[in-house]
Amino acid sequence: MSDNLFLKSLYPDIATESLDPIRHILYNLRQTPPQVLLFDGGTEIERRTLAKYWAALNLCPNLTADGPCHKCPTCLQIAEDAHLDILAYDGYISKKDDDDSPGFYRAFNAENARSLKLVLRDAPHGRYRIVFFTGIVASRAEAPNALLKVLEEPSPYTLFVLLVPQRAQILPTLVSRSMCLTLPWPCQPNNESQAVAKLTASFAAFLNDKEDFLTKIASKSSLTLPLAQDFLVAFQKTVIRILANEKETPLDLELANLTPFKLMQLIGWIREAQEMLAATVTPLRVISALSMRCYTLFRS
Ligand SMILES: [Zn+2]
Repeated sequence: MSDNLFLKSLYPDIATESLDPIRHILYNLRQTPPQVLLFDGGTEIERRTLAKYWAALNLCPNLTADGPCHKCPTCLQIAEDAHLDILAYDGYISKKDDDDSPGFYRAFNAENARSLKLVLRDAPHGRYRIVFFTGIVASRAEAPNALLKVLEEPSPYTLFVLLVPQRAQILPTLVSRSMCLTLPWPCQPNNESQAVAKLTASFAAFLNDKEDFLTKIASKSSLTLPLAQDFLVAFQKTVIRILANEKETPLDLELANLTPFKLMQLIGWIREAQEMLAATVTPLRVISALSMRCYTLFRS
């Protein structure tokens, strides 16, 4: 399945051999799709992309033996986050950000949960309405309960997809309602998405004065929340590999000479950065501040 060219061009993050088994399971599941599907493991980008792939499997009218056709208007709308029957919610998004610049993923608060329940009472335009939820872990206490209430009103036309780093982080009552699929853990660099690998390589070059990392992340407005989260996880793994005397990526090599004391300091800063992201500080601010601290530490 991995030599499907259209899959590679539309969804490069999941066109990997390591995700072949999961895509295969999803292909078979679509015949009797579970009401609630839960993805854990992998990276945030992989989970979000697989959710779209799952939607395409259920909505594409020209399904082939390889999966969705990836060419029809339905497939293209799904890939561009423009399909009317797909709704997406992210517990990390604040009400203010949602009001100021609503994106494909909307805030998941009590108010939006109420309007979602109203929408779900109407029939979808196509075969199914598919609803993605992410950021359930970090969201305010009301969100997981609001989500439970939404899931309690089953409809044959609605499919839910929950995206969580680890299923142990959410309410057991949510897990027990779900069919759970675990993506391979991104423990090797070749499992990390290309975007994260590029970002960490560019960060390594920045520490060495060879690249203007700060301008790069600021200019393209490409630093999304999932990418920033995955970058921090990759950064954390670099530190852990160095502590274990292993070197694999350009960033590992760059940081390999730091003292254990400085490495522990880095771990603390990465954790702080993760908390700031969870508290909805913008990814650009969080990553810029962390980069400057690292740059100084690297030189001290
Ligand atoms: Zn299609």
